Parts: sequence; structure tokens; C-alpha cells
Amino acid sequence: MQVIRTVAAMQDLRKTLPEESIGFVPTMGYLHAGHASLVARARLENACTVVSIFVNPTQFGPNEDFANYPRDEERDLELLETNNVDFVFMPSALDIYGAEKNTAVVHLNTVADTLEGAKRPGHFDGVCTVVAKLFNIVRPKQAYFGQKDAQQLAVIKKMVRDLNFAVKIIPCPTRRDPDGLAMSSRNVYLSPSDRATALLISRGLGAAKALWQEGQRDSALLVDRVRQEMAHGNFAGIDYVELVNGEDFAKMTEALPGAIIVVAAKVGQTRLIDNMVLE
Ligand code: AMP
Repeated sequence: MQVIRTVAAMQDLRKTLPEESIGFVPTMGYLHAGHASLVARARLENACTVVSIFVNPTQFGPNEDFANYPRDEERDLELLETNNVDFVFMPSALDIYGAEKNTAVVHLNTVADTLEGAKRPGHFDGVCTVVAKLFNIVRPKQAYFGQKDAQQLAVIKKMVRDLNFAVKIIPCPTRRDPDGLAMSSRNVYLSPSDRATALLISRGLGAAKALWQEGQRDSALLVDRVRQEMAHGNFAGIDYVELVNGEDFAKMTEALPGAIIVVAAKVGQTRLIDNMVLE
């Protein structure tokens, strides 16, 4: 496994790689089994796998946890080595954005304006801009994104379509701990009692899905089912529980197959998101 720390070195390396078969997994590090599942899939489907680790400052709001975002380079590199990754790209923010303010920003309307986009203004501009940059630098054939960040996945798919990036976006299922909690780098912040509250999110989503499987299609009732479960916990705040379509994240009144129930809530200082696809 080779670690590449500059944009220039990554671009030079890219010229030597086979054109047809490069799988790419962009991450912010502090890796867990969810990230490893994306890596495993990329390894399976490509001759060569590039993983990036970059805690992207521009996707964090002024009052968010950029400075405190968990980081552990040594552990991440060990995990990637164990998973037989070929190349790890770990650029600095200065190298990615340059010394002057980056004035080119990728902004998407609609799908990026609701829910996460509304609660975290500028978040998807940061995500789209950095992913566009990474795609231009790494020039992958296929890129792997988790369903855990369902709206991000929809935003990236739309960006790729709208801007004609020559990359195929591969969605990967959400990996959960045995108790049901969706794996996340931020889970490390949760105390045992926070975790008990956090678990109610996946429990609520599971209960709503069971109702849907029994034939319930009224989105208000399905959303209520999630909220009922979450009411047993000690959330610092619930940003949203909504039932939306997976394309543009518009709210739906009827829960048709493919609809997604999305949740964002704060437990202590930690903001968690999760979702359940109804299929
Ligand atoms: P992050 O490092 O949190 O930015 O995540 C990097 C990639 O891993 C994104 O595509 C995420 O959607 C994906 N990911 C994060 N958590 C999970 C999970 N529990 N299961 C599957 N993919 C995940």
C-alpha cells in the first residue's frame, strides 16, 4: 500500500494507473466496518483501489465539529493495509484548496436545499466541491458511497449527471452494529446513556418499516411511528423525521416503494443521521 500526500503526486501516479479499472472510496477517516465494506466492494470490482482520507473543512458549518472530528491516521492506515488497499490519498487542506480562498464552488439546487442542506447551510456545497475536486484528481471509473448518508448519495449522483463526470456511482448498504446503531465515526463520542438514546433511531426506523411491510402507506403515520419510539429517549433535539423520495428528497404523502425515511437528531453534543429505505 502506498500513501500519497500531495495533489501533484496523486496526479502523477494516476497517469501510471490502468485507465479502465480504478475504484475510489472518499472518506473523512476514523474508519470503521462501514468504510471497510465500501473498500471491500471497490476491491472486488476494480483492478486498483484508491481511498482518500480528508476531513473537508468546507463541509462543516461554523458551529460544527470540524476541530473535534475524530482522527487516527495510524489506525486508519492499518485498517486499509489489512483490507489490501493499493493507494491512500491524504492531502492537506492547503494543498486541496490553495492559499487563496477557493472561489469555484459546486452548488446544486433542489436535492441539496432540503433537510441536511437546510439544517446545515453550505454543507452540500462543501461536499460537492471537494468530491468534484477529488474526482478530477483521482479520475476513478467507479466511486463508492454509503446509503448511510442517503441525501449525500443522491446529491453526488445528481452532480455526476449534471456535470457529466465520467464516473459510475455505486451505492453501498448501511452497516450497523449488532444492536442496530448505524456505524459512524461520530459514535465514538457517545456515552453509554447517549448510545441507549441513539439506538431508538434505528429501532424507530425498523418499527416503521415493519408497519410499511404490513401495508401501511400513510407517510404521516410511518413518521409518527419513528417519533413514538424516539420519544422514549433523551435527545438534545430532533432536526427532522421525514418520508421522502430517494431522487430529489421531496416529501411524500404516500410511502411508495423506494421511499426513504430520514432522521437527524442530536444526542448530547453529537448529531446523528440515519435512514431506512422502504423496499
Ligand atoms: P465519512 O468518512 O463519514 O465521510 O464516510 C465516507 C463514506 O463511507 C461515505 O460514502 C459514507 O456514506 C460511508 N459510510 C459511513 N458510514 C457508513 C455505514 N455505517 N455503512 C456504510 N457506509 C458508510
